Amino acid sequence: MPAAGTKDYYQILGVAETATPDEIKKAYRRLAKQYHPDANPNNPQAAERFKEVGEAYAVLSDAEKRRQYDQVRKDPFAGFGGFGGGARRPGGAPGAEHVRFSFEDLGDVGGLGDIFSSIFDLGGRRRGRTRTGPQRGQDVEFVVEIPFAMAARGGKVPITVPVTEECATCGGSGNAPGTKPQTCHECGGSGQISFGQGSFAVSRPCPVCLGRGTVPTRPCPTCGGTGHVREQRQIMLTVPAGVDTGSKLRLSGQGERGVNGGAPGDLIVNFRVKPDPFFRREGLDVYCTVPINVAQAMLGSRIRVRTVDGKKVALKIPAGTQSGTRFRIPSQGIEKSGRRGDQYVQVKITVPSELSADQERLVREFAKAANLKY
Ligand SMILES: [Zn+2]
Ligand SMILES: [Zn+2]
Repeated sequence: MPAAGTKDYYQILGVAETATPDEIKKAYRRLAKQYHPDANPNNPQAAERFKEVGEAYAVLSDAEKRRQYDQVRKDPFAGFGGFGGGARRPGGAPGAEHVRFSFEDLGDVGGLGDIFSSIFDLGGRRRGRTRTGPQRGQDVEFVVEIPFAMAARGGKVPITVPVTEECATCGGSGNAPGTKPQTCHECGGSGQISFGQGSFAVSRPCPVCLGRGTVPTRPCPTCGGTGHVREQRQIMLTVPAGVDTGSKLRLSGQGERGVNGGAPGDLIVNFRVKPDPFFRREGLDVYCTVPINVAQAMLGSRIRVRTVDGKKVALKIPAGTQSGTRFRIPSQGIEKSGRRGDQYVQVKITVPSELSADQERLVREFAKAANLKY
């Protein structure tokens, strides 16, 4: 049983106590999407759930924090040692409220900053604790849908990636040029406020000053005081031949800008390949279906088949080919890192849908000669 007043992070994420990191991640993604403020404008309940879900994930996704949480959850009196900075409130009754669960106590503030960035999407969060040091920009994930042919052969595609950039006017401070900031009244200048009740109080960046500890006396006119601006970055993306749905490409330095001279993050492109009406892909092999007429099937023929290169190659259809027969054209599949798959062509025999009187007579004659019953 969880201690009284303890938030049940497992319940919040709807996972079992035995959930694997993968299950936790999946549950978090699903719920974060469901309760994301963008999807629930002006819905304070959803916003609260969104925060809770983020809070739960921040703890359960980290093996060490999860271990500590599990310990405290099972026995609020046993877990004290594990928290390092767990502060006792003077004069408080013994019990759950003695355990102050604060992210700062658990070290690795940088890592949590990353988590908070996705939870709160605050431009100023990177300054949360170390306000002056350079920090690497965030990685940005971006999904790019490409046609089948481009996936097979490679190519170039222009993409527009929304990124948060530090405001150039104020250099990210949020202050109008020439003005000085004042101490934030909300957090008293610490840049952090605590939320949650009972044993698990959690600190997060102050929503008023966005973790800076100061607020502008006059906000920067370009960014409205947030210190960051949303920009649409145009990139001509080179698609390597052979990418498939699920392939990823990391573009170094194309993510969000770093803070205080920190290196920019990376752009991670997730490819999604549109289905093709003719080709189907399996690994490096491609499959297609081609119609042939009944004469081609019976007498044999040479047909021309389109390949993923957009060319046509000859394929010999032997006399007496059955419908559904599959032929292999070697080395006309997808090429990837020096290897190339094959193309498989399945033939489908089509018969004339209408016969003239003459034709019908000839077919009947043929059937008789070939001893075909009908
Ligand atoms: Zn600005
Ligand atoms: Zn503040």
